[in-house]
Amino acid sequence: MKNRRRGGAFRYRASWAYRASVDPAGLKEIWEMNRMIKDLFQGKKFVGSGLVKVSLGFMIVFVLIVALGFAYIVHSLFANYEGVRQTADLRTQLLRLENAMIDQETGQRGYLLSRRTEFLEPFDRGELNYHAASEALFAQVRSMNAEVSLETSVLELTAAGTGWKTEFGDAQIRKAMAGEAITEQELTEAKRQFDLFRTQAAELLEQVEVLRAERRTEMLNHLYALFAAMGTLFVVVQILMLNYLQKGLFRLTRPIIQLDRAVSSYEDGNMQERLPDYREDDEIGRLILNFKRMHEEMEKEKQALENTYRMINTLHQSRSLEDAYRNILKSIGALTSCDRMSVITQNPDGLYTIKAVCADGAVSLDELPLPDEAEDVEELLLGGFSTIYDDWSKHRAQGAIAERLYGGGIRSSMHIILRKEARVIGVLNVMSDEKGFFNAQKKERLEKLSPMIVTALENASETIRIRDMAMRDGLTGLWNRRYFDQAFDSQLARQAAGQSGGRSLSLILLDVDRFKVFNDTWGHAEGDLVLKHVGQLLQQQVRTGDIPVRFGGEEFAILLPDTLHEEAAVVAERIRKILESESPSRKYRITASFGITTSSGGRSKEELLEGADRALYRAKDEGRNRVCIDMGPGAQGIL
Ligand code: GH3
Ligand code: MG
Ligand code: MG
Repeated sequence: MKNRRRGGAFRYRASWAYRASVDPAGLKEIWEMNRMIKDLFQGKKFVGSGLVKVSLGFMIVFVLIVALGFAYIVHSLFANYEGVRQTADLRTQLLRLENAMIDQETGQRGYLLSRRTEFLEPFDRGELNYHAASEALFAQVRSMNAEVSLETSVLELTAAGTGWKTEFGDAQIRKAMAGEAITEQELTEAKRQFDLFRTQAAELLEQVEVLRAERRTEMLNHLYALFAAMGTLFVVVQILMLNYLQKGLFRLTRPIIQLDRAVSSYEDGNMQERLPDYREDDEIGRLILNFKRMHEEMEKEKQALENTYRMINTLHQSRSLEDAYRNILKSIGALTSCDRMSVITQNPDGLYTIKAVCADGAVSLDELPLPDEAEDVEELLLGGFSTIYDDWSKHRAQGAIAERLYGGGIRSSMHIILRKEARVIGVLNVMSDEKGFFNAQKKERLEKLSPMIVTALENASETIRIRDMAMRDGLTGLWNRRYFDQAFDSQLARQAAGQSGGRSLSLILLDVDRFKVFNDTWGHAEGDLVLKHVGQLLQQQVRTGDIPVRFGGEEFAILLPDTLHEEAAVVAERIRKILESESPSRKYRITASFGITTSSGGRSKEELLEGADRALYRAKDEGRNRVCIDMGPGAQGIL
């Protein structure tokens, strides 16, 4: 494994060919390299492909610079050499001209001194050569584009030569041929002119030599300049390339370093470290992109977890069932980002009803029956498996409610079964306007939370039960004095707020007659039995909404909302009669006295209690086992 890594796909060494011959992993490297080059030409990206591409570009530029530079150097070398060669040719032509002149002068002087005609032959040849040489000289000078002074000098020189030939050469030979004597002075003059020509020629030669030296220096300087320029260009390209490679490598390594740093900090629990901003579509780019997605997922998970904790906390704080339903829906709403939800739970009688509905953030706690045709809900509850309806346009629950919701824009839903141990106690419905909004992950998350929802509902019920216990009398099971006080206060407040529709609130007080004697005669246990009997009787004889209370000892009270005193009197009379005729034992008879008072508003709790007590006292006073009514301040009346 270690070896494979060291000889990994992206490391190419000069020895790969050797490695390939001895190590099969090397073959893999060659194949891998081959693939990379192919990818590069097909425009595919891999880590560092940009770098490889630019390096290749630099290489091409470099080779072009070298090739073009050399071509230019060779070209200019030839051009310069041509200039130098021309000066050499010029020198040769000059020497030819001078030689031709020497031939002429030698021939002329030989003939004049010896008068032998064979000396005319070098003279004539010299003349011919002189013409040819002077023409070649002119052509050479013109082709060289040389300075004007050089051309003038050549002109002057050839003119001097031609002048000598006409004035001295031809003239003196003709004179000698005619037999005339040539004076010493004439000869000396001819020699002087000839020497002048030679001096002129020597000067010109020197001039040409200077030109040749100049051109040679120029050529060398040009060559040095070219080499210097090429060298500079080479260095510049190298610097640019190194600079680019360094930047490119940095661009590749920096995101990896940043990624490493981010991953380490995430490991330490710090999610704030920024991920590198790298946009290339290569392995690093994809790695970072995947990591970014992972990071987002982690953030979402974290958020969900925080929401879950918040939800658990909120659920635990539920003080009543209503509170619990409201908290469940609000928390689930925050957790799933859904606006529409509902909870269906089972009542003690086994019937399932909708307990709470949340729409657009508002929770309604009115209990609703399930529609008869809601077979799917029944099926769901019976099946006991949480379900997702992915696309309501294809498949949705049957029934009026589902149709109404579909019409309102609902397109997908999730139904989480709520169970207490193995028993299904209800279902949590979550809906969305988006098709395919729910998935297995969301379902799993809510399923995991469902026991907490169930616990919250149970806790709320338990709280209610405990509170109920604190409000009930242990012996008779009726409400106790504390509950009576609360209920009385809220009924009076309702009346004061005008919510009772102007109807009266009546109060009946009941006291068992001569109970002390009863206890003394039949014992306390039997007395307790009688009190229970009275409690049961009251419970049976009042309407829903009436509040029967054990007031204390053998005194009872009934609070009757929306009841006139006549109606209260009927109730009291009925109870009185039953009590009188049906005692727990045939051994004794039980009777009680009743005091009634009524308020249609404006009377305090204390005033009402005093009124009822007054009526009760009167009933006792007037012989017991009867019902008396207190008609309010100033009025009196007995039924
Ligand atoms: P009256 O007709 O004037 O009401 O006579 P009474 O004997 O009922 O009058 P009183 O109010 O003086 O006596 C009430 C008695 O009720 C006193 C007490 O022994 C008895 N009693 C009070 N509470 C209980 C109870 O919880 N159980 C039993 N067995 N007796 C109780
Ligand atoms: Mg009493
Ligand atoms: Mg009594």
